Amino acid sequence: MCGIIGCVGVRDSMGRLITGLENLEYRGYDSAGVAIQNGKGVEVYKRSGRVDELKKATPDKHAEIGIGHTRWSTHGPPTDDNAHPHTSTKEDVAVVHNGIIENYSDLRHKLEAKGHEFTSDTDTEVIPHLVQDFLDEGKDPETAFRETIKMLEGSYAIGCIVDNHGAVMATRQGSPLVLGVDDDAFYLASDVPAFLDYTDRVMYLEDGDVAIIRKGDLQLSDIEGVTVDRDVETVDWDPSETGKGSYDHYMLKEINTQPTALSNTIQGRADVENGQVNLEEFPPGTFEDIDSIHLVACGTSYHAAMYGSNMLSEGGVATTAFRASEYELHTNTIDENTLVIAVTQSGETADTLGAMRTAKEKGAEVVAVTNVVGSTAAREADQPLYIRAGPEIGVAATKTFSSQVVSLTMLSQRILDDLERGTPRGDMPEFLESLQRLPDDIERVLEHDDAKNIARRYSDAKSYFFIGRGTANAVALEGALKFKEITYEHAEGFAAGELKHGPLALITDRTPVFAVFTGDEEQDKKTLTNAQEAQTRGAPIIAIAPKDHPSLEFADEHLEVPSTNSAWAGLLANVQLQLVSYYAADQLSRPIDKPRNLAKSVTVE
Ligand code: GLU
Repeated sequence: MCGIIGCVGVRDSMGRLITGLENLEYRGYDSAGVAIQNGKGVEVYKRSGRVDELKKATPDKHAEIGIGHTRWSTHGPPTDDNAHPHTSTKEDVAVVHNGIIENYSDLRHKLEAKGHEFTSDTDTEVIPHLVQDFLDEGKDPETAFRETIKMLEGSYAIGCIVDNHGAVMATRQGSPLVLGVDDDAFYLASDVPAFLDYTDRVMYLEDGDVAIIRKGDLQLSDIEGVTVDRDVETVDWDPSETGKGSYDHYMLKEINTQPTALSNTIQGRADVENGQVNLEEFPPGTFEDIDSIHLVACGTSYHAAMYGSNMLSEGGVATTAFRASEYELHTNTIDENTLVIAVTQSGETADTLGAMRTAKEKGAEVVAVTNVVGSTAAREADQPLYIRAGPEIGVAATKTFSSQVVSLTMLSQRILDDLERGTPRGDMPEFLESLQRLPDDIERVLEHDDAKNIARRYSDAKSYFFIGRGTANAVALEGALKFKEITYEHAEGFAAGELKHGPLALITDRTPVFAVFTGDEEQDKKTLTNAQEAQTRGAPIIAIAPKDHPSLEFADEHLEVPSTNSAWAGLLANVQLQLVSYYAADQLSRPIDKPRNLAKSVTVE
């Protein structure tokens, strides 16, 4: 995820690009850059860090054509060299890109063999070199751009300028891109807030659209050049609400953008055809010598770690999820055949870094599962696995939890394939197909408004309980954590079977119990019994389950989720619980994006 912008037609494009980048900073803040075309070649200014740094480095220049970028790294750390725009060797093509080019490695080798010199670690840099290559063959800039796009696999929104061409060329495939239409100018951006200060008339591009934008002239066509029409719509967003768009809070926006975040997490990694998970970071054989696995994490990441550890244990590998702050007490159980998987959204969580260092000292192999490319955890690990969720602004983690769970589950499968222990999954095709379907399934959860109604109905409860077994236990703990973080109400999560060993004493008719089911018949039957034990003592039961689930015969309320492979059911249930927490907190007028006493990344022990 990142923010791209383009501007054509006004003399102070540069100023508008920078304002646009400031308004897109919520999408990425690893680095920022602009490229302008002013009749004297293509000029590029870029810096690692925030847009403010770029502002200081940018001269006051006039240009009627320009593109800009604020980066959230996926390939290569956040350095000046890796900042966009990227240019070709001759520096007369500049490109900004949002997304991931899956076949970049192949393309790069071919281009290098032809003499192209690369200056960054990014996947993006192949794009300007490809355009250049076609220009060198004598193609005009628009043909060169179209031919380039045809060679790309993956997801992208691209803005491109070529020296002396007098246009911004743009296209999208799986990443957002919207045009802003004003009387004297056209804009191009990942999101409307980028140009909302100047125009509220927008045109949403669709996958495969190619836009050629010149002063006073906009041409839209498909990849072959056949004209397409897109409607101009007017948005009624308040410019001061930059970044949140039509949402009241970042948290709600982040809950709603989980389908996109997960598409990025999964992209290129679920190989349905060959019935396997592909993680380019971990080729087959990587985990051959592993005897046991430790997951270390804190807070929400710990719940993702618990979720992930389930599959490994079921697959026959000795696996334990530890709270990172407690890990030091277990160092005697670590050796060179231990794989330690550290899970940290920011990659800077002090407790988790401490646990990683302890593990390394003992000779363990350390993998960091993180959202931030180039973070301390990513650098100190033997190998990072990026969850590619894009930046998360709300303090309460939502989309990063989902992306962590999916990344860890994919990683678990990769490990199990190497170890050939336990019984191989009998349901592999279905497991992979349902993995690919996850973004759509989440979309379906988001279409319901039952979470809002339930949050209202139980707003005067004394305590909120969440129960589940296996992966649903992790979701129950996460559901309770989210609820307490943002509502400030008392909430507790339990392994369903534990309820009767103490917490049952707290149950009354003012303690609603959210019961999470995964579709595993045996486990669900037991969870239902535990829920009924609470119901007998007066507690209302809210079942989170698919439409025809046996629990619905007894439950007082139902939060529906699509039915899916049991590996993913908890993840869908968690989205419903995120919504319940959000609406409960909203009703109490809590500062949802910045709950009291909490910080996004906890860098102290
Ligand atoms: N894959 C590109 C990079 O790492 C673009 C990432 C983004 O969308 O910000 O630079």
